[in-house]
Amino acid sequence: MFYNLTKRISKSIFNISNKGKITESNIQSTLRNIRTALLEADVALKVVKKFILDVKNDSIGKTFNNSFTPGQEFIKIVKKQLIYTMGSIKKNDHILNMSTEPPAVFLLVGAQGMGKTTTVGKLALFIKKEKKKKVLVVSTDIYRPAAIEQLEMLSKQALVDFFPCHKKTDSVLIAKEALKYAKTNFYDVLIIDTVGIMYSNIHMMNLIQSISNKVNPIEILLVIDAMVGQDAINMIEHFNTYIPISGIILTKIDGDARGGIALSIKYSTGKIIKLVGNGEKIYDIKYFEPKKIAERILGMENVLSVIQEIENKIDRSSIKKIKNTFYNKTEFNLYDFLIQLKQMNKIGSIENILERLPNNKIIPNDVKSRINDKLLKKFISIINSMTKKERMFPNIIKGSRKRRIALGSGFKVQDINSMLKQFENIKRLVKSVKKNGISNMIKNISN
Ligand code: GDP
Repeated sequence: MFYNLTKRISKSIFNISNKGKITESNIQSTLRNIRTALLEADVALKVVKKFILDVKNDSIGKTFNNSFTPGQEFIKIVKKQLIYTMGSIKKNDHILNMSTEPPAVFLLVGAQGMGKTTTVGKLALFIKKEKKKKVLVVSTDIYRPAAIEQLEMLSKQALVDFFPCHKKTDSVLIAKEALKYAKTNFYDVLIIDTVGIMYSNIHMMNLIQSISNKVNPIEILLVIDAMVGQDAINMIEHFNTYIPISGIILTKIDGDARGGIALSIKYSTGKIIKLVGNGEKIYDIKYFEPKKIAERILGMENVLSVIQEIENKIDRSSIKKIKNTFYNKTEFNLYDFLIQLKQMNKIGSIENILERLPNNKIIPNDVKSRINDKLLKKFISIINSMTKKERMFPNIIKGSRKRRIALGSGFKVQDINSMLKQFENIKRLVKSVKKNGISNMIKNISN
């Protein structure tokens, strides 16, 4: 989900991230790119228009504080707007409501084939595990005995109780009896599966309404397959005219690369997506978290926060030294290498930082495994065992010097060789940065 959107947005966002000032002209092309990316991801046109307008109004002419560049502030505005578009700004709005006298009744409704019955099973397990609640499930789909059996099987997988109803012929009655049973047996939650219906079928809509009136559910969750795209909006509106939908469960997001519907639902219908189904297995369900999704879509924001964190940990004079190394000095030597290693050591776990970069997959695994904290410490102690002259002129470090350094630092001659090899690599990198600039280097990495 959101694969292309993430790729396109983080790329266009990157172009603006270093801008010193935000003006209408310099955000115009970024906004145009974001607009195209959203439309291609199947976000509804009216949502896209509103989104772009809000971002524009929020950013132009705004005065920013000093801790971020205006480019970074712009990214924060886009992020805020993405979160707002997908979900409520109110805390816990997407959390399942259970604030009622038990049992809390959850009614799951939707068209056939959306993944409703599967979701009842998933939800039962989710609530049992996450909330540590005693859960009962029941199917009222007397029209499809196979659906009843399917739920019975799912309940066994989830290790929750199943209310049998095979001999009953009245959906409303089944729901009523299941509720009575849940009350007398002290269940915390009762999840009711319903017949899958075409939303134009008034008779069935009335039936769902009757069930709802009888059991008074705290949550009426409409299950929608993400792949139905914009038709989801009509579905929500139609169902909502019969029963007050309290939230959406979006299924099969694992099969939907575009994901635009997740960005359209709240603005178009006012309804919040509460959960998403991301696979066929019983545990493939999770809360829909707009903040996390926005961060993923914006990929680059992650990089910026990592950079910010790094800057906070490194003191100013060291940054100056590193910058001097890049731009002013004629020859990069082991003193400069040592300064950089020490700074990297201060930043914290390198593996952790690499993991947080959105495009970290492009860093080959062998490189990742080579850049680790232990290695850093090893290199630092090797350089510490060198003479001033060796640090200034690493070319003089040959056989006997290597043996002496190895002895002094407690490592092997191979370690000295590998450190010198890394040093040569960094030296080459510094040369290329001097020639092409840091931003070009980062751009190449992030593409
Ligand atoms: P219902 O008619 O709405 O009750 O739909 P079912 O629960 O019978 O599901 C229809 C099909 O969708 C089944 O093959 C499920 O395994 C599949 N399904 C349900 N949820 C998901 C999901 O999140 N991801 C994927 N890939 N398949 C799902």
